[in-house]
Amino acid sequence: MFVHCCHCTDCGRESGTGTGLNAVIEADEIELVSGRLEETLLESHSGKGQKVYRCPKCQTAVWGIYNTMGPHVFFVRVGALENAETCVPNVQVYTRSKLPWVVLNPDIPAFEKFYSFKEQWPSKSIERLKAARERLG
Ligand SMILES: [Zn+2]
Repeated sequence: MFVHCCHCTDCGRESGTGTGLNAVIEADEIELVSGRLEETLLESHSGKGQKVYRCPKCQTAVWGIYNTMGPHVFFVRVGALENAETCVPNVQVYTRSKLPWVVLNPDIPAFEKFYSFKEQWPSKSIERLKAARERLG
């Protein structure tokens, strides 16, 4: 539905790279086709926490669930995808805490903190989110 490139210190630390790249997608559009994931409870910028699901072998974060958004949407870690290049960020957020040498893409909206959901999400994505909330609670 929407892709975040997050420069907050939590995403930076959790990814171990300085940024977080998350594709927000309906939970029932995700299927774990093999193996299992381990759940870890972490802090989040909102203070409400997030659950991160990792490969038990390599500890790669595969997706997360933010308590602010609810369990009906997964934040899929784009770097863990086979076709990561297809998930171009829709927004760059928490740029106030980006690493000083990171150059922001001028073609992607950038925000010092977070953004206005209603102003940035395409109407089609908002409809999908509403439908997921109704379907999945
Ligand atoms: Zn973040």
